Amino acid sequence: MSATFFVSDLHLCETRPQTTRLFLDFLANHASKAEALYILGDLFEYWAGDDDLDDLHHSEIVSALRVLSEYGTTIRIMHGNRDLLMGQAFARACGAELLPDPLIIQLHGRKTMLTHGDTMCTDDVEYQQFRRQVHTPSWQQTFLALPLAQRKAQIAAFRARSEQEKLHKDRRIMDVNADAVAEMVRNHDYPEVLIHGHTHRPDRHRLVVDGRVCERIVLADWDASGSYLLYDDTGCRAITIT
Ligand code: MN
Repeated sequence: MSATFFVSDLHLCETRPQTTRLFLDFLANHASKAEALYILGDLFEYWAGDDDLDDLHHSEIVSALRVLSEYGTTIRIMHGNRDLLMGQAFARACGAELLPDPLIIQLHGRKTMLTHGDTMCTDDVEYQQFRRQVHTPSWQQTFLALPLAQRKAQIAAFRARSEQEKLHKDRRIMDVNADAVAEMVRNHDYPEVLIHGHTHRPDRHRLVVDGRVCERIVLADWDASGSYLLYDDTGCRAITIT
């Protein structure tokens, strides 16, 4: 039976080699059984630009994705807030397709909306302002025109600041806002399933929007263990890998 796999929030980074090993194991021994693999954002802890493809850590991951795609698994990748600068050169190298956010698909007969999830975290006003800025083409063009080393230094500064701010932020504002979720569902003509990551709060929620039922499935982040959602004709389940 054909299955579709979903992962998100791996935050792969050369400083967390155990998570990279888990992901490479997942690609070789699990994902090869899937008809399609969806990566719903934050595959990388950061992505400074496609001219960083030659980095050893990156090329190991990109080659493993390429092998998976050559063996017949369709790979579709959505940007997260951390790897929003992944471009077409990266996608081509992986044999993958970059996806718009949000995206509606037919998933084993169910109308399903896929999103990274950060746009629904509207209580974090500061973050939403930052997000709007870095998603403008002019900001991205200006940033990508800087030398790679300078971009990496700026990203390191962003990350340090964001870690610092997280210590003071109420944990509630880093979760999705219920009204923002309802609006997403309403604006996309009531999908039956909504799958996202970003919040690192894996769960399944049943919600009712304007009398229509939608299941919101939140994917787990990866760290010492990995997790993927397996979806097939019988339904879905989360599988942990260690
Ligand atoms: Mn995220």
